[in-house]
Amino acid sequence: MDKKNYNYDVAIIGAGPGGFSAAIEAARKGLRVAVFEKEQPGGLCVNWGCIPTKTLLHVSNLLQTCQKMDNWGLSFEKRYIHFNKINNNINRIIEKYRSGIKFLFNKYDIMLYSSECYLIDNCQIKLDTPNKTITSKYIVIASGTVPLMPDIPGVNANFIYNSKQLLMNIHDIPNRIIIIGGGIEGVEFATIFNNFGSQVTLLEKKERLLDFLDDDISKLLYNELIKKGIRVYTGVYIKRFRDNSVDFYSGDSFLSLDCDIVMLATGRRGNLSSIKNISINQKDSFISVNHFMETSEKNIYAIGDITGKMQFAHVAMYEAQKAVMRITGKQFDNHRIYPVCLYTKPEVAFIGYTEKELAEKGYSFSTILYSMDNNLMSLLSKNSKGIIKIIYDKKSNMVLGAYIVCDKASEMISEFSVYIHNGLSLYDIDRIIRPHPTFSESIGEAVKTFFSE
Ligand SMILES: Cc1cc2nc3c(=O)[nH]c(=O)nc-3n(C[C@H](O)[C@H](O)[C@H](O)COP(=O)(O)OP(=O)(O)OC[C@H]3O[C@@H](n4cnc5c(N)ncnc54)[C@H](O)[C@@H]3O)c2cc1C
Repeated sequence: MDKKNYNYDVAIIGAGPGGFSAAIEAARKGLRVAVFEKEQPGGLCVNWGCIPTKTLLHVSNLLQTCQKMDNWGLSFEKRYIHFNKINNNINRIIEKYRSGIKFLFNKYDIMLYSSECYLIDNCQIKLDTPNKTITSKYIVIASGTVPLMPDIPGVNANFIYNSKQLLMNIHDIPNRIIIIGGGIEGVEFATIFNNFGSQVTLLEKKERLLDFLDDDISKLLYNELIKKGIRVYTGVYIKRFRDNSVDFYSGDSFLSLDCDIVMLATGRRGNLSSIKNISINQKDSFISVNHFMETSEKNIYAIGDITGKMQFAHVAMYEAQKAVMRITGKQFDNHRIYPVCLYTKPEVAFIGYTEKELAEKGYSFSTILYSMDNNLMSLLSKNSKGIIKIIYDKKSNMVLGAYIVCDKASEMISEFSVYIHNGLSLYDIDRIIRPHPTFSESIGEAVKTFFSE
């Protein structure tokens, strides 16, 4: 088919962070763009992920802060949690994001089809509403993921929710919640409900929580969760769910715990519904792509969570840019250094290589470990432990990776993105002047310890 005979230059399946970013980027480059979305613009991130959970974390952290104000001489005698007001605020913020996306789609003449769709071949897309077929020269699949249901007896019981179901149905704080899965989603929800005063139990089948982090960091976070009163069991095998309880083995012990609700945070699989009729290379329910985000069909790209790599909104947005640059024949740096943030209390942020990865590669590296105990902002916020860990090349002193654990870690980690992307060394970092008092001045203090060794 000749280019001018296509309805669009780029058709994008999904209007999550990957899809809407690709659409805006492509339209800004002068391409004719259509987006297909079967639910709401914004995808998982805006509607059921980043935005509602970070709003809940914000509100529940405020509550925690108020409760700890006594020793500053501030008392809040009565505690009310009006969950319908919280929900209203969450919905207001979500709506603001959705209309922002629609505004940009209008501004850039991007056609939004509010419909489920699927590919008939590598350039034809079939829609449900309206019932028609559309053609496009390039296709970008940004269809995200769906929750993985563990194969456990009783898993369909009515007291068991995944995070989306929980966010849709929660009107009150549960007294007792059991969260299955000690990954990022699990520990963030554990933090939210613990802040709100629920009795929280976290069950993880691996021997430690968040095992993609270095040992010392996941242990530190584990200790902080325990200190806050969250019950954590690792090495867990769940036997069944029944009558508002969970039967499980933790090591050799058998336990049965009662609860009001269970939340499943047991991972996600790729949403492949749009490619059921065509053959594109896949791996474990995710679409395989090369460095340019191209699939095995040359004119079809896949970006974001559907590629099964790092399931973060900022990664999806970056991959959107990469795909559009490829489509428009432009060069683009192929960075693979993404920050990872856990919005727990304290926050944990990480970028670059872990010690474990470097050790496995036989790399010669060393670390700086700095405690933020004497940092004024840490002292003022009266929060749990703060540390900075910098992993650097032993010969060149270039930064290879970094962890930050403290309030605002998710903001501070971008400093290390700049260092790593630009190949900067500890000497370069030492020359940077940061304002006082701030959390981030600890980065400078941490580096100073290297020069005093
Ligand atoms: C509880 C939770 C909290 C999270 N918090 C964070 C966070 O704080 N920070 C962060 O970076 N990431 C967070 N994430 C992850 C983040 O939400 C995802 O990485 C991000 O949304 C992925 O974007 P995407 O565009 O690849 O896919 P999605 O956002 O999943 O969007 C895919 C879209 O495609 C649509 N779609 C699928 N199939 C079709 C079809 N056949 N036809 C039409 N439309 C279709 C879907 O309806 C959906 O809207 C969180 C996730 C969860 C579950």
